[in-house]
Formats: sequence, C-alpha cells, structure tokens
Amino acid sequence: MAFEGLSEKLSAAFKRLKSKGKLSEADIKEAMREVRLALLEADVSYKVTKDFVSKVSERAVGAQVLESLTPAQQVIKIVNEELTALMGNESARLNSPAKPPAVIMMCGLQGSGKTTHSAKLARMLKGQGRRPLLVACDVYRPAAIKQLQVVGEKAGVPVFEMGNDNPIKIAKKAVSHARDYGNDVVILDTAGRLHIDETLMGELQGIKKEVEPTDILLVIDSMTGQDAVNVAKSFDDALGIDGVILTKLDGDTRGGAALSVKAVTGKPIKFVGMGEKLEDLEPFHPARMASRILGMGDVLSLIEKAQEHIDEKNAEEMAKKLKENSFDLNDLLAQMQQIKKMGPLQQVMSMLPGAAKAIKDEDAEKGEQQLKQMESIICSMTPRERERPQIINPSRKRRIAAGSGTEVPDVNRLLKQFEQMQKMMKQLGGMGKKGKRRRMPM
Ligand code: GDP
Repeated sequence: MAFEGLSEKLSAAFKRLKSKGKLSEADIKEAMREVRLALLEADVSYKVTKDFVSKVSERAVGAQVLESLTPAQQVIKIVNEELTALMGNESARLNSPAKPPAVIMMCGLQGSGKTTHSAKLARMLKGQGRRPLLVACDVYRPAAIKQLQVVGEKAGVPVFEMGNDNPIKIAKKAVSHARDYGNDVVILDTAGRLHIDETLMGELQGIKKEVEPTDILLVIDSMTGQDAVNVAKSFDDALGIDGVILTKLDGDTRGGAALSVKAVTGKPIKFVGMGEKLEDLEPFHPARMASRILGMGDVLSLIEKAQEHIDEKNAEEMAKKLKENSFDLNDLLAQMQQIKKMGPLQQVMSMLPGAAKAIKDEDAEKGEQQLKQMESIICSMTPRERERPQIINPSRKRRIAAGSGTEVPDVNRLLKQFEQMQKMMKQLGGMGKKGKRRRMPM
C-alpha cells in the first residue's frame, strides 16, 4: 500500500510525543530526528529532508506550541501543513488552451506507464464530457501502436496513427485531424527510451515546437524513488514540463518521489496512477495526500470514488427494495459487485481515518477472500434460488457448494447471514410505520 512504511514510522514518532503531555525542546528534537529518518528511509533526498525538518522544527519549538494544551497535536498539525506545502499546497489542474483542441504531450522513460496513463487520462476526460483523441507518436517500438489501440478501445477513445512516419509530422496531422473531427483534447503518446538521450530529447523538443502543447506531462514511476525525481529534473531542464503524472503509487510503500518532485523541479504532480486498470487514476491533492500519509484518512477522495462508481438510479432502487423488504440474493450480488468496482478493499480502507493502521494487510486480504467466496456461492445459484433462498434444500446446497468450489457449511453460513440481514431490514423497515416515537434518533 502507498506510503505504508512512512506512515507507520511517523505515527510511531507522534505516539511517543502524545504520551508525554507537556513537551520540552528536547522531546521535539528527538521526534524530529525520527521524522528525518522516516523521510530518508522513504527515499526523500537528503536536501529536501533537511529543509523540511528544519522548517518544522523552527515552527514547533515556538512558544505557541510548547505552551499549548495539546502540544503533540500542534506538532502533528505543523507536520501536516508542511507535508502539504512540500507537495505543492494547491491541487494542480490541466492548463486551458487559448482555443481548442487542448494538446497534452505525454513523455517519459520506457516502462514508466506512459501508454497506460495516456488511456487513463483519455478515459477520465471522456467521463467529464470531453472528446479526446489518442495519438500514437511512439514509432520505434513495434508493438507500441497496437498497445495504444488496445487501451484506447478499452477507454472508448479513438486512436490516430500513421504507422512509423515521422513523429513530429504525426503530431501536427493529429491536431488538424482533431480540429476537423471535433476532438477537443489531443493526447500524444510519445516514444520512451530506457535512458534519457539526446535523440529522444531532440524529437520531443521538435514536437513541442511544432504543436505547442497546452500541457507537457512527464510520466514517472514512483517505485523508482529518487531516480524518478532525477529523471523529472532532467526532462524539465531539457524540455520544460508543466507537470508530472506519478504512476504505480499503489505499489510504492515509501513515497519518496511523491514528496520530492515538487521541491526538486518546482513542477506539480497533476495526477497519480493507483493501479493497472484504466479507472485507477486520481487527480493529485497535496492536502489529502498529506492526511493519508499521517493516517488521518482521505474521506473526500473516498466519496468521489464512490460517486464515480455507484450509479444513483441503482442506489434508489436498492433503497426502495430495502424499504419494501424485497431485497433478495440477486440484489446482494449486484451490491457486492458495485463495491468491488471501487478497487481492492485495502485501497478503499486506506482512505478511512485510522483504518490504515487498524486493518492489517492480512485482514483486508481475508475480507477480500470472503467477499469472493460469497460471490461465487451466489453465482452458483439459479436466479430462482437467489429470489427465494428458502427453496434451497440439502441437495441444492450440495450442488451449489460443488459449483462454487466450497463446502456445504459455507453455503449454510451465507444463507444464515442473509437471513439475519433480512431480519434486520424488516425491523428497520417496520420502524417508520409505527409513528414518530419509534424512529431512530438522528
Ligand atoms: P510505457 O512504456 O511508459 O508506455 O509503459 P506502459 O504504459 O506500457 O506500462 C508499463 C507497465 O506498468 C504495464 O505493465 C502497466 O500495466 C504497468 N502500470 C502502469 N501504470 C501502473 C500503475 O499505476 N500501477 C501499477 N501497479 N502498474 C502500472
């Protein structure tokens, strides 16, 4: 999970502070030493770490903190604010073009996630009502065009390609194609290399000069830590970038790149990639990320995620069914599948305050397995059985268990759970009818 190591170390340092009540300068110094180590271990560069710790220390030893009633809370608040500032304070958005189409030039090293993120971005923009066009400018890797076509199709976004023609020419043609066909965003998937080299930079500079992109976004792999930050610095020096897309944050337990990019390059992170699927893209919000690192959760992102994945009509229908007590196993299955769409349980839980620490990886994994098992049991039932579970007799149970790769007691457990759920719903449904006195207090 993202930032796990850093979160754990910081929370250990703060726990010690909290246990002390009144704080002395020495206590703060000790805590800052731990913060410093935590950041260095997270692969934040020495200079960035040093500046960060000296800023926090300066503010933390002030009289206001030491003499306050909750000094440890004050220190955490300062760390939270400085972490947010370190990552750029404001959430960065895409630039607006003087006139459409907007041109987003994606660049980065091979394997950083450039093609995947071109499609993720296209999908996100399409969801916002835009009409994106993906453009295959990587003409060197034989499979690159095909790969873009595959992800483009998944995102439901057209792909413009001219085989292995000159990339600068392709970019120019694509922009005029977009004008003719009413595409208001052009996303250029440019060629990557294993290392930064002059030919690559020359080509990217050529494209930049020809089409004057609205946004040059550099895609970097967060798992490579400080290396990613160095790559960002080189690209910015040679090409001038507008922002960064930080990928593979789902697998980055350290978080050094996320914390240092802005400080080192002066350019903001605009989006983060949180998984291999096309929907695993989030706008980057420094304040929310700081809260997540400090284990304070990120409820706003969770709500946005839920809004994106849960369709309202379906939710209304479910509420009606609950009220009428006609919620059956078909509905339960549909609900479980909706929850699954929001992503791995662990990722969803990490956005809840305190949950990141309280719920261990194994617990989340167990929960995930249980959900999977419940789902396969329900899937092995006939639609009629799901509607009227009471018809499930022992021989049907054996069939369902065999079909779902489980045992009869597992099927029994699920049926029992569902029965209890129904009972509870009945009670809840009944409450409204019995007049105001029995209503739940709000
Ligand atoms: P490119 O060479 O820069 O175009 O990189 P690709 O888009 O082909 O991605 C390289 C690999 O990284 C692929 O296997 C992707 O599935 C994977 N990948 C890309 N983004 C993410 C992400 O945010 N999280 C994870 N876990 N994998 C990713």
